[in-house]
Amino acid sequence: RRKWRKVVGLLKDLEESFETPLGRLRQMVDAVAVEMQAGLVSEGGSKLKMLLTFVDDLPNGRERGTYYALHLGGSYFRIIRVHLGGERSSLEVEDIERHSIPTSLLNSTSEVLFDFLASSLQKFIEKEGKESSSSQDVKRELAFTFSFPVKQTSLSSGVLIKWTKGFAISEMAGEDIAECLQGALDRRGLDIHVAALVNDTVGALSYGHYHDPDTIAAVVFGTGSNACYLERTDAIIKCQNPRTTSGSMVVNMEWGNFWSSRLPRTLYDIELDAESLNSNDMGFEKMIGGMYLGDIVRRVILRMSQESDIFGPISSILSTPFVLRTNSVSAMHEDDTPELHEVATILKHLGVPKVQLKVRKLVVKICDVVTRRAARLSAAGISGILKKVGRDGSGGGEGRRRSIGKQMMRRTVIAVEGGLYSNYKMFREYMDEALRDILGDDVARHVVIKAMEDGSSIGSALLLASSHSVRT
Ligand code: ADP
Repeated sequence: RRKWRKVVGLLKDLEESFETPLGRLRQMVDAVAVEMQAGLVSEGGSKLKMLLTFVDDLPNGRERGTYYALHLGGSYFRIIRVHLGGERSSLEVEDIERHSIPTSLLNSTSEVLFDFLASSLQKFIEKEGKESSSSQDVKRELAFTFSFPVKQTSLSSGVLIKWTKGFAISEMAGEDIAECLQGALDRRGLDIHVAALVNDTVGALSYGHYHDPDTIAAVVFGTGSNACYLERTDAIIKCQNPRTTSGSMVVNMEWGNFWSSRLPRTLYDIELDAESLNSNDMGFEKMIGGMYLGDIVRRVILRMSQESDIFGPISSILSTPFVLRTNSVSAMHEDDTPELHEVATILKHLGVPKVQLKVRKLVVKICDVVTRRAARLSAAGISGILKKVGRDGSGGGEGRRRSIGKQMMRRTVIAVEGGLYSNYKMFREYMDEALRDILGDDVARHVVIKAMEDGSSIGSALLLASSHSVRT
C-alpha cells in the first residue's frame, strides 16, 4: 500500500510538471508571435527560422496539366500523379503510392537515399507505362516535397540546413536537395524534371488554399511538426528584394525549433533531448511530434518502474529508446475495453506482463498527460500565428482597434495534416478545446481547422502547376 502511495505521488509530480494552464498558454502565444517577428527581421534573429519559400501565388483552381510529386516525410514517402483540367472540380489524383521509409536509409549516404527515391519513382513511372493511358511524350514535371529544413534559393532550389527526425546522413547540409534528386534521376536516365522543391507545410497550404481561399496557414502534425503561413512581404524585413507580385509570401516557420522559457520542460524532455541525434535543436518538435510522444511516455513508465515495483522487474525492453511508438500510445489512451486489453497487450510487448488493472489505468493516465500537453502546446502555436496576422481577435497584428469587430468576423482556415493529427482523436480533441480556451468562443467560431489527407503531396503538385501557369 505504501508503494502505491509513492506511485500516486509520482503521478501528481508528473501532472504538475506537464501542466499547461491557460495563463501559461497565453504567454506562449505571445512568445510565438514575438519570435515570429524577430525571425522576420533578421537572419538568425530567432530560433524560429522563418524561411522564405518564394511562393507568392497560391493555386487557385485554374491550373492545367499533369504533374508529379515525390514526398519525403519523416516516416513515409509518397509518390503521386495529378491531373488538372483547369477548374477545381476537375482535380484528379490519378495515382498515389505510400511506403514506409526503410530505417536503413536514415543513416546511409546521400547517394543511397536519392538513388532509392529515384528507383521508387522509376517503378512508379514504369507501372504507368503499362497502363499506357497516362504515358506521355513530354518531359515529366515533378515537385519534390521535402519535410526537412531547407534554405530555399528559388521555388525550385534550396540547400539542406540540417536533418531532423532521426535522419543522420552526413555531409549533406549545404547541398542543393533538388539537384541531388535530379542527379539521381538523370543517372537512371529518367526524363523527369525536378521543377519545384516544396516544404510539406507549404504543399499543405497550397492544397488548402486551392479548395478554400480563406486558408492562410498550414500545420503538419506527423513524425515531426511544422507550420507555414501567408505573410505580407513588407513584414519580411530581412528579405530585401522579395520579388513578389502578390504582396505576400508564404513563410516556412520551422516551428519545431521554437523555444521559450514558458515551455513546460520536464526531466523527461531534457533526457530525451540529450540522447537525441540533434540535441539542443527542435525543442518544440520534441514535445509535440509523433516521433517523440511515445518515447516520452516510455521514459515516464520506465522511471515509475524504477521507483516502485508496480510494473514488476524492470524490463530491458522498456529501456530501449523509441521502442514505444506513438500509435501504441493512442491505442492505449483510447482503449475502451473495461479490462484495458489493449494496454495489457502493449505492456506485454514492452516486457511488462501481468499488471493490475489500476496500473493499466495509470498507464492510460500517463498517455493522457503527455498527449494533452502536446495538443495544448500545439494550440498555442496555432494561436501565435493567428495573433501575428491579426486574426486572434486581440486587435493586434494587422488589425486596428476600431476594426476589431470586423477582424473577428473574418473566417480563417488553418489546413492541418499528418498522421498524429488524423489518427489520434484525443490529440485532436485536446487541441480543439485549448484553441477555444485561448481564443474564446467568439473568435474560435471563425477559425476553421481543416484536416486534409495527402494535402502536402497533392498541394506541391498544384503549386508547381500554378507556377507554370504564371509563366505561360
Ligand atoms: P510523415 O511524418 O512521414 O510525413 P505522417 O504525416 O503520416 O508521415 O505521420 C506519421 C506519424 O504519425 C507517425 O510517425 C506517428 O508518429 C504518427 N501516427 C501514425 N499513426 C498514429 C496513431 N494511430 N496514433 C498516433 N500517432 C500516429
